[in-house]
Amino acid sequence: MTACPCCGHAEATAHNRPESHFACPCCGHRWRVAGTGGEACDYSGMSGRNRVPARQLQRKFADRIASVQALLKDRCRILEVGCAEGEFGAMVKGLADVEYVGLEISLDAGIAATRLDRVLNQPAAKLSEGGFDLLLSFHVLEHIPDIGAEIGHWAGLLDSAGTLLVEVPNSAGHPLRDWDSHPEHLHFFSAASLSALFEHAGLAIESLSSGHYESPVYADSLRVTARRALAGQEKNARLLDRFRLCLDGPFVVYGLGGDFRNCVLPVLDQLPVAALVDSDPGRVGERVTEKHLVQAYDPARFAGLPILIASMRFKDEISQGLQATAAAPVKLVGLDAIYEMD
Ligand SMILES: [Zn+2]
Repeated sequence: MTACPCCGHAEATAHNRPESHFACPCCGHRWRVAGTGGEACDYSGMSGRNRVPARQLQRKFADRIASVQALLKDRCRILEVGCAEGEFGAMVKGLADVEYVGLEISLDAGIAATRLDRVLNQPAAKLSEGGFDLLLSFHVLEHIPDIGAEIGHWAGLLDSAGTLLVEVPNSAGHPLRDWDSHPEHLHFFSAASLSALFEHAGLAIESLSSGHYESPVYADSLRVTARRALAGQEKNARLLDRFRLCLDGPFVVYGLGGDFRNCVLPVLDQLPVAALVDSDPGRVGERVTEKHLVQAYDPARFAGLPILIASMRFKDEISQGLQATAAAPVKLVGLDAIYEMD
């Protein structure tokens, strides 16, 4: 039994047409079988990997720049896996003050070295340095036999807040073809299989889009951006930091509806909550947790304490009501301040 290299589904189906390959019934991934044209090529003696008509090259690079530009920050460190002759990297270097390192295993590495800050003639698995802010790779992953191991290497080369941007052909690479006969291509991704591969590598997808232009033959490509997925404890710690930044010390929570249950209750016991208040007098005395009963709002008792308005929808109404009844001005904080913080 062969398992899917993207989603891990154990029962891939074998096919002999149009060529010998496996297909995953779960995520739609297809891949070639070793021994029937599925071995990795030897790229070390190849050159001119990007040599296509200028119009195609310009269209391809313009499509890529549209996604990459938003990810550029001055002094960020970029690694491009499969940088070819370094033309795209040179274009990116013209847009921001970045350090651009290229990996290229073909002879094109020699030309790229004249355009980029550094070019290494080796695969990502052999790279010992890490901490890159942005890892780019266009039309490389479909050439690599062990894509699970490769994505693991790429994820390991990123800074903890780094972003990975990868593009591959969407299935056959053109909406009017069912099969991709390119002899170097071993993997044929679907949106679902590419997502599953990233998620298995501990990466969280930030965007996934199709229809990206590589060439007339591969006019439909998938592009994904991802970052390291946060573990449950990290999410919790970051959320508590936000509450701390917005509400210093004990505070009152006002409004105990759906937004409260979704956005406050999961961390309620870790917050310095002085009282839970709701505008519905019928709820006074209701037990919310072992520690907290619903209380009526008492401006004199809660004087000086900040109030978290735990309703997105009724924030303005509650805010106006509290300002009208409060004995002294109080600090009012909305859930949007906490959940929309950059
Ligand atoms: Zn699968």
